[in-house]
Amino acid sequence: MKYVRFQKADKTIKSGIVEGNSIKTVEGNIFGEHKVTDESYNLDDVKLLSPVEPSKLLCIGLNYSDHAKEFGKPIPEEPMLFLKPPTCVIGPEDNIMYPSQTQNLHYEVELVIVIGKEAKNVSEEKAFDYVFGYTVGNDVTARDIQFRDNQWGRAKGFDTFAPLGPWIETEIKDPDSLDVKLLLNGEVKQSSNTSNLFFKCANLISYLSGIMTLLPGDVIMTGTPGGIGPMQVGDKVEAIVDGIGTLKNYIAK
Ligand code: MG
Repeated sequence: MKYVRFQKADKTIKSGIVEGNSIKTVEGNIFGEHKVTDESYNLDDVKLLSPVEPSKLLCIGLNYSDHAKEFGKPIPEEPMLFLKPPTCVIGPEDNIMYPSQTQNLHYEVELVIVIGKEAKNVSEEKAFDYVFGYTVGNDVTARDIQFRDNQWGRAKGFDTFAPLGPWIETEIKDPDSLDVKLLLNGEVKQSSNTSNLFFKCANLISYLSGIMTLLPGDVIMTGTPGGIGPMQVGDKVEAIVDGIGTLKNYIAK
């Protein structure tokens, strides 16, 4: 099923499940007790929001060999973790704001794991029991700042630097075999498959839950493949994961 958060014309925010061109409203907490109601809306009459409001965004760097190569680094021996603050999160069709502090704003398409249950010290074998579903992310990066700073908090942490969506797909059977693609103004810039991830989804959940407690709604951004590059004000950027959907955003000043 495809879980969304959406805003109605009167500005109220609801959760729902997408079926064809309509959304059936969900009552309750999607990570706990909830039920689907008869109240439904046309997908075209509402604004989709980020499908999740994470308490933290755990991001993995250099997890595809072609990206590590273009970055001039080897794949790390252990998953390379950094965090983005929750204030980075925006939804489908929202604007990514080009900060005045950078001259080199980059896209990074990523498969995103959405945690469904509190997870601490989870084994790889049990890891998928803690997954609610998957969505698409764009790990927007101020590349010039990233190369200047030893820590990536600034380069990765500006407001609007974590578009997520369009929904959480709960019916992905194998997250390690999905095509991922990024289009900039309709032109393919990144194209790979999650089978090329060096550290796989189950491994990441286990590894990260050994460091910090993962809470329902937390997201793991699994890394980006090769082909990173700049975006300009006015550009349209589409991050696509097959089996999930297309996350479209615009670059604005
Ligand atoms: Mg990334």
